[in-house]
Amino acid sequence: MSQRMQGQPMIIMGEDAQRVKDRDAQEYNISAARAVAEAVRSTLGPKGMDKMLVDSMGDVTITNDGVTILQEMDIDNPTAEMIVEVAETQEDEAGDGTTSAVAVAGELLKNAQDLLEQDIHPTAVTKGFHLASEHAREQVDEIAADVDPEDTETLKNVAETSMTGKGAELEKEALADLVVRAIQGVTVEAEDGSHVVDLQNLKIETRTGRSAGESALLSGAVIDKNPVHEDMPTDFEEANILLLNDPIEVEEADVDTAVSIESPDQLQQFLDKEEQQLREKVDLIVESGADVVFCQKGIDDMAQHYLAKEGILAVRRTKKSDLKFLKNVLDAPIVTDLDSVTSADLATGSIERDEAEELFYVEGEDAHGVTLLLYGSTDHVVDELERGINDAIDVVATTVSDGRTLPGGGAIEVELARRLRDYADSVSGREQLAVEAFADSLELIPRVLAENAGLDSIDLLVDLRAAHDAGDTNAGLNVFTGEVEDTVEAGVVETAHAKEQAIASAAEAANLVLKIDDIIAAGDLSTSGDDDEEAGAPGGGMGGMGGGMGGMM
Ligand code: ADP
Ligand code: MG
Repeated sequence: MSQRMQGQPMIIMGEDAQRVKDRDAQEYNISAARAVAEAVRSTLGPKGMDKMLVDSMGDVTITNDGVTILQEMDIDNPTAEMIVEVAETQEDEAGDGTTSAVAVAGELLKNAQDLLEQDIHPTAVTKGFHLASEHAREQVDEIAADVDPEDTETLKNVAETSMTGKGAELEKEALADLVVRAIQGVTVEAEDGSHVVDLQNLKIETRTGRSAGESALLSGAVIDKNPVHEDMPTDFEEANILLLNDPIEVEEADVDTAVSIESPDQLQQFLDKEEQQLREKVDLIVESGADVVFCQKGIDDMAQHYLAKEGILAVRRTKKSDLKFLKNVLDAPIVTDLDSVTSADLATGSIERDEAEELFYVEGEDAHGVTLLLYGSTDHVVDELERGINDAIDVVATTVSDGRTLPGGGAIEVELARRLRDYADSVSGREQLAVEAFADSLELIPRVLAENAGLDSIDLLVDLRAAHDAGDTNAGLNVFTGEVEDTVEAGVVETAHAKEQAIASAAEAANLVLKIDDIIAAGDLSTSGDDDEEAGAPGGGMGGMGGGMGGMM
């Protein structure tokens, strides 16, 4: 009911639209973003807990992985979604550190809120955060230690640190070893001396029914398929292999064409014609010289029979991802039109059949490509295991190509906080307070690591700061003993690139939220998820019914 009077500004928003301004807008946004950060905090670190996520179809995921949790949470608050994006960027860029990035973003906003309450302008806060983020990343580079791809020991520590507290934990030593060897197997040195990790040449194949410790690294590809015909040969020391994405079946058009058959003769003729067509297709394969065909499409029964008689091994409905990986492993093209096949399309490789596991092992002539065969007792176990292994693979790959590591267990955060507080002295005006707030926010990581391990976070932070003031850059938290220790010596090391990325994206997300002073929503602005303590959604009534309850009974 808009009673517009002359001279009043025209209302340009719809009746259901809502608008929140200035401090209310900031508080609203900050509390939404913080709610997201709170949701993942309890999973941080080796002693973090898992979450069980049940989707609308009733499917269950049990995970400790920050980005998985946030993606499955089905968040529909726009501000909260910006924080979820932090996690996704972190996952894409670094493959790890998602929980840390989101938790720090939440803490930055909490500390920003205090500054805003002291009437510090949001621009001063965002400027200070930006300065702090840049300075922190410079310091990361100074603190980082160099690592080269042959340093298996350090790389294994990096892998183990990323796996601690995840599904991969129980067998982490064996799995870390596999991960490191897998990455070393797909690393090449570029002309400029840098190391390039080609993850396209690495594939994870998951299987249930055995324990994780039986997982193995194989050179080449593993294809989880059976031959189409039991009379086919299954093992070749040196085979000519065809990768085919074209069905070995009667062509569709011929099947669809209505044929009116009036006599048994005609029927026979028709069948003969089909048979002949299949025969011709098989002949094309025979003439190319192929011993083995991995076909992404179907293979007709009759063609299967012909292929078997020719002594050719054929596999149908090969997974698209498997065929693509075979292409890398064998250095062969994928033929999409059987009519055009020639001997030049074939690759040489060996094939070995594992009858018990119903697998083929395929290796290329000049072997590149490795498969990590990952075992877990059940589907849920193997899924979480795969997430953990994927993280470890990304982390080790990043470490190899970036070549730098940092002390973990909160050590790097405490060191950065110390250096940021020094740096704050050189920053003038109110930005100085924001730089200090940034330092405090980084210390959330050791605090939460301690909390999640049931330790006294205040005492430990005091100890950690003292150790760092005394020049012990690697002093971090041993969450198992509750002691402060040299984390590098203890083998708790992280990749520098992920940390830089986490700091940058947490700062950017916080600044993005802080710069908003006006929320204009076309519809109902209700918060999804629960709000924590103080703030809550300001102006409680915002979630009002936008009218229109439909007058029907
Ligand atoms: P994220 O998603 O941020 O990677 P994690 O749950 O993997 O979250 O926890 C990472 C944090 O746990 C890092 O700060 C890392 O240094 C710390 N951490 C990992 N292993 C250990 C350990 N053995 N002792 C102490 N801290 C550890
Ligand atoms: Mg991690």
